[in-house]
Amino acid sequence: MTDAGLPLHLVTISDDGVNNYLQIRKEKRLVILINNGIHPGEPDGIDASMLLAAAIAKGKLKLPNGIVLAIIPVYNIGGCLNRSAHYRIDQNGPEAFGFRGNAQNLDLNRDFIKADAKEALSFAQIFHLTDPAILIDNHVSNGADYQHVMTLLTSQHNKLGGEMGKYLNEVMEPALYSSMKKKGYDLVPYVNFDHRDKVEKGWEAFWDAPRYSSGYAALWNTFAFVPETHMLKPYPQRVQSTYELMKSFIEFAGVEQQRILELRTLAKEKTNRQESFIIGWELDKTRPASITFKGYESGYKPSEVSGLPRLYYDRAKPYTLQVPFFNSYQSTAMVQKPRAYIIPQGWWRVIERLKVNNIAMQPIQRDTIINVDVYRIEEYKAASRPYEGHHPNQGVRLSTSSRAIQFRKGDWYIPMNQPANRFLIEVLEPAAEDSYFKWNFFDAILQQKEGYSDYHFEDVAAGYLQSDKDLQQKLEARRSQDTAFAQSAAPS
Ligand SMILES: [Zn+2]
Repeated sequence: MTDAGLPLHLVTISDDGVNNYLQIRKEKRLVILINNGIHPGEPDGIDASMLLAAAIAKGKLKLPNGIVLAIIPVYNIGGCLNRSAHYRIDQNGPEAFGFRGNAQNLDLNRDFIKADAKEALSFAQIFHLTDPAILIDNHVSNGADYQHVMTLLTSQHNKLGGEMGKYLNEVMEPALYSSMKKKGYDLVPYVNFDHRDKVEKGWEAFWDAPRYSSGYAALWNTFAFVPETHMLKPYPQRVQSTYELMKSFIEFAGVEQQRILELRTLAKEKTNRQESFIIGWELDKTRPASITFKGYESGYKPSEVSGLPRLYYDRAKPYTLQVPFFNSYQSTAMVQKPRAYIIPQGWWRVIERLKVNNIAMQPIQRDTIINVDVYRIEEYKAASRPYEGHHPNQGVRLSTSSRAIQFRKGDWYIPMNQPANRFLIEVLEPAAEDSYFKWNFFDAILQQKEGYSDYHFEDVAAGYLQSDKDLQQKLEARRSQDTAFAQSAAPS
């Protein structure tokens, strides 16, 4: 179901018509999940996927043995129904398209962890049903002008990590680049740069936190890609390049099927056993890659509208240049995994999200006291402006202590010995980038609930001090040292 009240569709294509995912998994086939129209103003993938499905159905294109396509034709149905020719005013076609926000005005490509939209809850179920080796989430870019029709964002390879990250960076991406080059499309990493700067200075890889499709997929050991066609290229050309890129993925997966599946199996086993997880990253500026960028000369001239300097690109002056691409990240924070997390059942919105992600968890069988490590939120700052329906908590600082806590029958015990370990760390460690704490799921704990009437408590307090001379001395000492304290009878 989606927030628009219409169901999501999933189109499954295999060379022998098998569409049962239990069978697909048992026979170790490789699933490529293709998502379209998450931003409905960027519909290239919708049309390219229809062309792809039609070509396969008509026998014009053969799917390699063992490759299964799982296609979501349109993800943001609500946004797609809200149509105009003007939402992406820079974009070169098509004639009309949908709107970025969904039926709740959410950007669904920020919603994969917090899952405020029904789309995200449904996507998690589709994702775990299909367990894709490769995720392709088709988009159209904004930003600079350049010659490339197709740009490609991938899961950040250090964050994907291990053998899979290495394979992505050293084998898979180069193969896709070379396959596309043969078809006349020079790929370039998603052109992610500050418009006030010169694109010739290069740019940093887009940081795909778990809230994004590719960041979410990386938590599950899936190779994820976000193709971004260039908004200023004509629509038919953009659709064609999206089509060709998806074909390149299919061809590559056909050849590399065994290796990709083995890498995933090993990565999942490693995730089960892994003891520590990185939850903080920083860009390593010292090790840029060098990429071939085909741009247009740019400069500034007086604006005819404002008289102020304005940026322009001169398409009569194309150039080809090697530019630095900063795509190395290193760890800044790490956590040891606990034996398990325990979530009291009252936090059912969190449990609901864990359930759609197929987390193995057991209800505690009887009321019991367990010695556990607890986090105390020492410091945080809620964002002052809303972001995607939240005021996310930033700058989280924690302290830990051991405490005996009373749990009740039905509270949830979540063992940390499962392929979901990394996802669980990212959502349950309060300091992790896209944790449920940051996304406000636990904000109610930040407020004191019970109060008291001080006039009535005065006599109780006086009586207690009479019986505890030690405490009385401490109170006197503090009163003589701390003027502000001495002048206030209110609790501090
Ligand atoms: Zn987009």
